[in-house]
Amino acid sequence: MPGPNENPGPPGFDPLTETFAFVCLDCGASWNRTFDLVPLLDPAGCLNPLEYVDDEGRAMHSPLTDAVCGACGSRKVRVG
Ligand SMILES: [Zn+2]
Repeated sequence: MPGPNENPGPPGFDPLTETFAFVCLDCGASWNRTFDLVPLLDPAGCLNPLEYVDDEGRAMHSPLTDAVCGACGSRKVRVG
């Protein structure tokens, strides 16, 4: 049963989100980002590992490898 704040996804689709806390090791900035997790089907119909989609709709296999500090541009970012 969907709650009042959940997105009404396509039927049979269970939308998953995951929030990560990032901390920049260079300037100390911290922020959170929430990613949608999208289960992917390859052309053969096999289920691939979940893919992350950020709030701009860009797909990535892991948000942890694409973490860049928005304040100083450093890629030395710790993810909690
Ligand atoms: Zn930084």
